Amino acid sequence: MKNMTLSNIAKACQGRLILNNHHDTTIKGVEIDSRKIEKDYLFIAHKGARVDGHDYIETAYTKGAIAVICEKAPANVDMPYILVNDSLTALKDIATWYRMQLDIPVIGISGSVGKTSTKEFVSSVLSQKYRVLKTQGNYNNEIGLPLTVLQIKEEHEIAVLEMGISDFGEMHRLSNIAKPDYCLLTNIGQCHLENLGSREGILKAKSEMFDFMNKDGSVILNGDDDMLSTIPQVKGKIPLRYGLSPNNHVYADNIISHGLLGSSCHIHIKDEIIPVKIPMAGRHMILNALAAAALGSVLGLTNAEISQGIEQIRPVSGRNNIISTDKWTIIDDCYNANPVSMKAAIDLLVMADTRQVAILGDMGELGLKEEYLHKEIGIYAASKNIDIIICLGKLSSHMYKGAKEILVSNNDRLFYFETLDGLIEALPSILKKDDTILVKASHFMGLDRLVEKLQA
Ligand code: ATP
Ligand code: MG
Repeated sequence: MKNMTLSNIAKACQGRLILNNHHDTTIKGVEIDSRKIEKDYLFIAHKGARVDGHDYIETAYTKGAIAVICEKAPANVDMPYILVNDSLTALKDIATWYRMQLDIPVIGISGSVGKTSTKEFVSSVLSQKYRVLKTQGNYNNEIGLPLTVLQIKEEHEIAVLEMGISDFGEMHRLSNIAKPDYCLLTNIGQCHLENLGSREGILKAKSEMFDFMNKDGSVILNGDDDMLSTIPQVKGKIPLRYGLSPNNHVYADNIISHGLLGSSCHIHIKDEIIPVKIPMAGRHMILNALAAAALGSVLGLTNAEISQGIEQIRPVSGRNNIISTDKWTIIDDCYNANPVSMKAAIDLLVMADTRQVAILGDMGELGLKEEYLHKEIGIYAASKNIDIIICLGKLSSHMYKGAKEILVSNNDRLFYFETLDGLIEALPSILKKDDTILVKASHFMGLDRLVEKLQA
């Protein structure tokens, strides 16, 4: 890693390097999880809520760690260490310093919904031309982001970073680490209302991303989003807007749906038309493809590279992942949920030409309006004429009420279960062969267990 000697690292995090004869030693990577340590890595011993990394310094050493950052002197190992007051602050400081050594474009992706999906689209497109480092999974917070920045190596030509927040000030800190050249915002939904209060609050918190944007950088945003479209300019530049509406700089038309298999459309960029096939279903995936096309075009990709990158995209487990078994088709969208993505998933289920079953569970972190927002989803699902609606969890009792208001006497199509075990027990009597079953809820509902059962 460029300039990552122990003495530079100690300076960057204002730590004290012990065993000074190692000051020129260079590290090959940084990890806080001792299981992922490789030879010549720097281990950061961090005291988490459940596990104290200081107890794993020896394991890290045996796995090949070359040095450790810690808050107290390690026992039983003879390797250089850097003593700091707070290991997590040290991680952030090192990543911030490391980023400044790098001379590659960094793309930051945020928004209420669709960050990971958009990151996958953008990476798939950009990797047609560049060697891309992208955030693994959902590593988007104040631990995941600095660790991701520290994964950028000499061979990488571009970095695509997911940036997630739940409170004011967090994006400011993430932006300070990432120093994005391009800031992409997907939408302003209704997540983390507990801390951020309102959509205006969310917009303000997400806009902290621009605080450390490169002065020559640019903003790319979903121009169909009523809040994002109110951003007139950032650092004197008009944002590049994408969306389904032709008012946007990058937009789609001639959209043809292929049901759950995806869709095709024409993407319009700078007076050119790129025909693309998007192998993931739903209107929101077209938006993600447009975001990727916009960035591809800004970063000099050809139209062929853009369309190839979009065609090669594959779903990530738990997000719009269509699983076909010999009994039924499962739409596995159980990784997370909020009102925007719930509605998007319901729209997807509606495309199925079999009997449609929606298993919808609680959505977390919705703040004071949580009961109302659940009820609204019930109304939405019922008004879409879905054959079977199953509401699961305490908050979803409001979803059930909402759906019941619409279905009135038709409520043999509607079920409510408070617990997952109750639902699993009843399912065999509800499901029929060839059903298409949407499984969606917030992560804490643990519906990945249900998806596994349905696959078995
Ligand atoms: P998290 O906050 O958990 O990191 P995220 O912002 O990364 O979430 P994804 O994991 O990409 O979001 O997607 C979450 C859900 O939203 C999935 O159900 C996905 O299909 C749906 N989704 C993906 N892209 C969009 C979009 N542009 N608009 C609305 N929903 C989307
Ligand atoms: Mg994510």
